[in-house]
Amino acid sequence: MYIRMKHKYSLIVRNNNIAIYDADKDNICYRMKLSDIRVIELLERLRMPLYLNDETEQDTTLIKGLLSKYLSDYFEEVDRDSYLNECIRNNKINRFHDLYKNGYDLNGQALMALVRKVLYMNRFVFIGFEQLPEYYGVYHYKIQTDEEVIEFNSNDIYIINIAKVSWTWMKKFEKLSLRSGAIRLYVRENNRYLQIGPTLNDHDFGCLFCDRRLENLYVETELFDELSPIGSALLEMELIKICRCMIEATIEDITISNGKFFVLDKYTMEAKQEDKIIDVNCKLCGGIDDEL
Ligand SMILES: [Zn+2]
Repeated sequence: MYIRMKHKYSLIVRNNNIAIYDADKDNICYRMKLSDIRVIELLERLRMPLYLNDETEQDTTLIKGLLSKYLSDYFEEVDRDSYLNECIRNNKINRFHDLYKNGYDLNGQALMALVRKVLYMNRFVFIGFEQLPEYYGVYHYKIQTDEEVIEFNSNDIYIINIAKVSWTWMKKFEKLSLRSGAIRLYVRENNRYLQIGPTLNDHDFGCLFCDRRLENLYVETELFDELSPIGSALLEMELIKICRCMIEATIEDITISNGKFFVLDKYTMEAKQEDKIIDVNCKLCGGIDDEL
């Protein structure tokens, strides 16, 4: 029997208290105070997916009792594949916590609950990508072309491969993004350079066209249609960090792309970051350009 917590919930165990956070309602939907150390330990373990056949008979009885008595709404029985996917998802959450915990104003379990919320609520829409590495499977994502209509949704985050879209398309896309307050991240890569960013959030950093450098920078050789393995890996590390609720919870900016861009010179392996320039007189984000 494989058990996992439903994706919209997170379990937070602190001292003798347990709380269940509901990502849809953005509140704590259940609280319980406990004194039995053994039960608290078991609850801690329920933060991970469990395969009950691996547990002792005594633990299995206790877990089943806890689930049916108090927690039946929040957990579900799943098949082996879903269980294995859930283990990968949990590893992702734990790894994120281990790498970036110092960057957030939250204690460990609350940070993990926030990452769970991102994986549950946010969808990543990749435009100009053919396919993504298998490890992107922990995300809720969609690949689409520049010809498909974009239905702007506040929980969607757009990742655009500059190589596969035209500047005219990007102008139109920026205009629509500004209108709907979207988060969008631009990437491109060629033989020598990998560029991740800028990530633009609503009007916060202006638009892509305020910074004229971005049109010609690092493009002396033809762009790759697809990101290299290192490009995909660096992009993947950025996805959770640029979600709105994560940005709001940071103590210091730990992104490589939020309002700035990161460029890796693959010949010398030198990396640098540049702030994106905002042009206050920009026609596009200043709303003066009516043609589009
Ligand atoms: Zn602009």
